[in-house]
Amino acid sequence: MLDGTIEAATIAPSIFGLDGREPQPFALRAEAVAGIAGEHAAAVDRDGRFPAEALAGCKAQRLMGMAVPQSLGGDGASLGDVADVCFRLGRQCSSAALIFAMHQIKLHCILRHAGGSAFHEGVLRGVAAQQWLLASSTTEGLNGGNVRHSAAAVEALEDGTVALDRDSTVISYGAQADAIVTTARRSAEAAGSDQVLVVLLRDHYRLDPGQSWDTLGMRGTCSRGFKLRARAAAEQVLPVGYDVIHARTMAPVAHVLWGAVWSGIAAAAVERAQTFLRTAARKARGQMPPGAAHYTRAQSGLRNLRLMVRDGVARCEAAFADEARYGAFDFAVAMNLLKVEASEAAVATVMSALRACGLSGYRNDGESSIGRQLRDVLSSPLMINNDRIVSSLASPALMAPVPAGLAD
Ligand SMILES: Cc1cc2nc3c(=O)[nH]c(=O)nc-3n(C[C@H](O)[C@H](O)[C@H](O)COP(=O)(O)OP(=O)(O)OC[C@H]3O[C@@H](n4cnc5c(N)ncnc54)[C@H](O)[C@@H]3O)c2cc1C
Repeated sequence: MLDGTIEAATIAPSIFGLDGREPQPFALRAEAVAGIAGEHAAAVDRDGRFPAEALAGCKAQRLMGMAVPQSLGGDGASLGDVADVCFRLGRQCSSAALIFAMHQIKLHCILRHAGGSAFHEGVLRGVAAQQWLLASSTTEGLNGGNVRHSAAAVEALEDGTVALDRDSTVISYGAQADAIVTTARRSAEAAGSDQVLVVLLRDHYRLDPGQSWDTLGMRGTCSRGFKLRARAAAEQVLPVGYDVIHARTMAPVAHVLWGAVWSGIAAAAVERAQTFLRTAARKARGQMPPGAAHYTRAQSGLRNLRLMVRDGVARCEAAFADEARYGAFDFAVAMNLLKVEASEAAVATVMSALRACGLSGYRNDGESSIGRQLRDVLSSPLMINNDRIVSSLASPALMAPVPAGLAD
């Protein structure tokens, strides 16, 4: 494996080619998984365990490789299709949805920046055929959430391979992943911001567990710390610098897909509040319960969230189709603010749903409990801290023109 090749024997043909059936639309496939995810979501949260059933469902429905181009064995799904799957999963199990989103973010980094590299195309084929699960390692040591700075460096060895030793603060589902996609300093001499992205298959690394993951929410992502020790072929480093990958794919795709997950969580809370209020109104012979005003806010919050995410999808897809759009002044600002605004709107929406349900929503037991959704969604402003993003946008925001008309 260290020569960067992937054995052809490990790559099976797509199930759709075997039995002659047409693939189902993505939404139907996602709903089939969401049903499974929902059945196990409470146990995943309670036990802080990996949502194995939901991820097995994603694999059975061939969703892991949905965005891989058809020429490499995938479905060639659009970013909008992927975001919709994230939303549907998020309604049922936040952890499963976030895991699916993180996998898709890394997949997009590879498929958009492989630049014809045989190794990376082999990985894409592996994801499509074997439904491999990709994990992400960006957070490191004392760096906190500064994704654009790495401490550990890729070290070129005399035999042409590379080594990487990394103190990864958190790697979600690191123990369950088939591959890890990690940032690193380009070389021992490079500055912390001169980064590359390295794709490591399971044979290429060892993980020694570090800090555990016992958190308020998102407990099923199993995002514990690890010491990552890797040895790989030099060609496993993506041919494009991470600065480009980050601006063009990693940040915009992450913000869209995370936003879709958080919108799904908010939708679950809104649905619970709606059921609670309808039941209460029926019992009160049609009289609106006092919490109904909060429900109106929750509904409106969810509508705005979905619009934000859809706008993000449209901007991203337009930039994917026409690279000149990356140069548009407000692309980076809009895509970064999407993360900040979607996370804050998602928290506010879930809070409104909780207030609509009152004590019934605050309880951990009962069908109107909003506890799990609230704990899970509270991770959203922290996951790449909103303060960090907003302060980094001060200069570009100041330079962006103020629109003269409504349609500008
Ligand atoms: C559910 C979940 C899953 C995750 N999975 C992964 C994973 O798979 N792989 C991975 O690598 N990482 C993962 N992360 C980590 C994530 O990417 C961030 O690195 C992490 O959330 C940042 O943590 P932090 O708040 O400690 O760090 P920081 O961003 O350093 O923030 C620390 C504190 O400093 C403040 N702060 C920072 N910068 C500024 C500023 N410029 N102005 C004002 N205040 C500032 C913040 O408000 C905060 O209070 C995950 C996080 C979560 C919540």
